[in-house]
Amino acid sequence: MKKILVLAALAALVAAFFALDLGRFFTLEYLKAQQATIDAYYRAHPLQTALVYFIVYVAVTALSLPGAAIMTLAGGAIFGVVIGTVLVSFASTIGATAAFLVARFLLRDSVQARFGDSLRAVNAGVVRDGSFYLFAMRLVPAFPFFVVNLVMGLTPIRTWTFAWVSQLGMLAGTIVFVNAGTQLARIDSLAGILSPSVIGSFALLAIFPFIARRGLDWYRARKALAGYRKPAHFDRNLIVIGAGSAGLVTAYIAAAVKAKVTLIEKHRMGGDCLNTGCVPSKALIRSAKLLSHVRRSREFGIRSAHADFDFADVMERVQRVVRTVEPHDSVERYSALGVECIMGEAKITSPYSVEVRSAAGVRTLTTRAIVIAAGARPFIPPIPGIDQMGCLTSDNVWDLRKLPLRLVVLGGGPIGCELAQCFARFGSEVTQIEMLPRIMMREDPDVSALVSERFRAEGVRVLTGHKAKRFSIENGVKVLTCEHAGKDVRIEFDEVLCAVGRVANTTGFGLEELGVPTTKTRTVEVNEYLQAKFPNMYACGDVAGPYQFTHTAAHMAWYASVNALFGFLRKFRVDYSVIPWCTFTEPEVARVGLNEAEAKEKGIAYEVTTYAMDELDRAIADGETHGFVKVLTVPRKDKILGVTIVGEHAGDLITEYVSAMKHGLGLNKILGTIHIYPTLAEANKYAAGNWKKAHAPQRVLRWLERLHAWMRGKPNGADESLVRRDLKDGTLP
Ligand SMILES: Cc1cc2nc3c(=O)[nH]c(=O)nc-3n(C[C@H](O)[C@H](O)[C@H](O)COP(=O)(O)OP(=O)(O)OC[C@H]3O[C@@H](n4cnc5c(N)ncnc54)[C@H](O)[C@@H]3O)c2cc1C
Repeated sequence: MKKILVLAALAALVAAFFALDLGRFFTLEYLKAQQATIDAYYRAHPLQTALVYFIVYVAVTALSLPGAAIMTLAGGAIFGVVIGTVLVSFASTIGATAAFLVARFLLRDSVQARFGDSLRAVNAGVVRDGSFYLFAMRLVPAFPFFVVNLVMGLTPIRTWTFAWVSQLGMLAGTIVFVNAGTQLARIDSLAGILSPSVIGSFALLAIFPFIARRGLDWYRARKALAGYRKPAHFDRNLIVIGAGSAGLVTAYIAAAVKAKVTLIEKHRMGGDCLNTGCVPSKALIRSAKLLSHVRRSREFGIRSAHADFDFADVMERVQRVVRTVEPHDSVERYSALGVECIMGEAKITSPYSVEVRSAAGVRTLTTRAIVIAAGARPFIPPIPGIDQMGCLTSDNVWDLRKLPLRLVVLGGGPIGCELAQCFARFGSEVTQIEMLPRIMMREDPDVSALVSERFRAEGVRVLTGHKAKRFSIENGVKVLTCEHAGKDVRIEFDEVLCAVGRVANTTGFGLEELGVPTTKTRTVEVNEYLQAKFPNMYACGDVAGPYQFTHTAAHMAWYASVNALFGFLRKFRVDYSVIPWCTFTEPEVARVGLNEAEAKEKGIAYEVTTYAMDELDRAIADGETHGFVKVLTVPRKDKILGVTIVGEHAGDLITEYVSAMKHGLGLNKILGTIHIYPTLAEANKYAAGNWKKAHAPQRVLRWLERLHAWMRGKPNGADESLVRRDLKDGTLP
């Protein structure tokens, strides 16, 4: 309502300006004709003249009316260069800021809500460099004054920044115009005031801030590196610390572009993913899934099936899988690709040098750039008594050969969930403890509910809202005491698996000594180019976050290696706009982009379309009818904001939506794509179909119904019932 009133008032003022033809007072001819009269009045009443002039100037600019240029000339003609400049400078800034605020008040929310997604990069750019852009636009008279005011009002730039940068940026132009106003008699047109050379000088001034920024970057880089002796020659172009997913890809890319690159690994090539993460966990999940199928045999028409297994054999298979994948990440493979691999412990001794401790001794290598890819490790929370429990983590659980009878899994995140379900399927009595109100807290509540329900059905005791308070040993029995709803809950167990998060490896290899800052989440602090404190030091993968997945580590590695090697030419900002992930429980939970909870939290308008897996032929045939596809779209558009898929092979199915989001394809395109029948992937198409149905043009369909009735030879081209219905809801004239 307030907005409507403001809009109406503004519209009335602007309409009055044109209706009363007030524009005639803001012409060169009128100004010249009235100059003597105005001069006389100014001499008699200097203060009033200045005040009236100031108010009119502010009003003209605030309402974005034509006439600011003439007013500026008049400022010079009446008050002279100095007073004229002061008056114009402040009046134009106040007027511009008022116009900016009005645009912000009336339009910003709706523009940002509607185009927020597309504007995200622009907004980020404005937050980062807005003052530079504004300064440049103010300096170059090619950008109309009022357009700059209105457009900037729609961006997130701060009002105070807008005001002072505008005033500073407009100053040069103001002086030129005010000065021209002192020679009013000699001016024939506004165009003549700015000669090409003056415009050229302004343009040079406009690019100055950008040159200055480059200079500032260079200065900062020099300052950061000051005190470290730069070697005359470097042994390497790049040293990569850590041979996990991030380090391997970094080194691979560097070698592919013929850089001399050294990859240092202190433990095992392949890092967590190969040795203690993705690969063993997925291998274990496979065996557990087989057992679950055996248990479900009756569902598939098999009267009885029995699995005789030894947990130790299952874990041996896990290791066989790891060994099968191992050659992909091996020293041999990477050496053949041109990467120098050193098995040893790296320590960064300066931004240009890395010390390596290996079986061959200690040596120091010099390098132009360093990429830190040191990964993360399981976090053990400081719960009293936990040290005495011989806590299992994702690092050492793979060494188990005896199935724990009673297993407590601390943590309801992806790793906790995957392993809790696995162990329950092997026959452990699993109690999963989560402090938050539900497991898989990052996903929507309906997702958590579905997974919890399945877990409970399979015998996992899921205790949410339970805070682990202390561990103890009572009469030789391990006990965890949790707090739940103000009461203590006692859980007896044989083994505890801690899966409450992972903490980046940022200590013990030189970062503290060099003062490399870390973030609140304890990852290495990097900028958008993945640069850490020093311009030639980069970090990627789990050690830098913000995501901790193998595919994001590889994604970041591209930016780290390319920026480290070619940043002197061009640097690339890491793009986190479309990041998918999957939790490999059963049902699998895959996601890309926003879910409902996040959209609500960020205030992003969305529509939801779902498709339930129990309608899908292939899911029915496979006996896997659990789950759904949930797509969030921009209201009334097919543009995808995010997708969650719960169900069999959700992690594979989501890829279609990842590609669609990455390449800007909407649901119409997915619907228009042939999907093989009968596959689970058809669920993606049917979700798009549901969206289409919900957006079908009802009025057109009713007319089509009528057309078909007419073509069947019905009187008046319509069924009576239809006519009656349309009359009732008013769609028939
Ligand atoms: C149980 C589990 C299951 C997972 N499942 C999945 C999944 O299904 N999908 C997925 O995408 N992600 C999964 N992840 C996450 C994934 O494993 C990690 O995101 C990924 O391994 C990170 O790679 P990275 O290169 O950043 O770190 P890492 O793989 O941890 O590699 C870092 C390497 O640096 C070495 N290093 C550290 N300091 C030094 C030093 N000073 N000198 C020399 N070397 C050093 C370490 O020894 C290590 O080998 C899982 C993780 C776990 C624990």
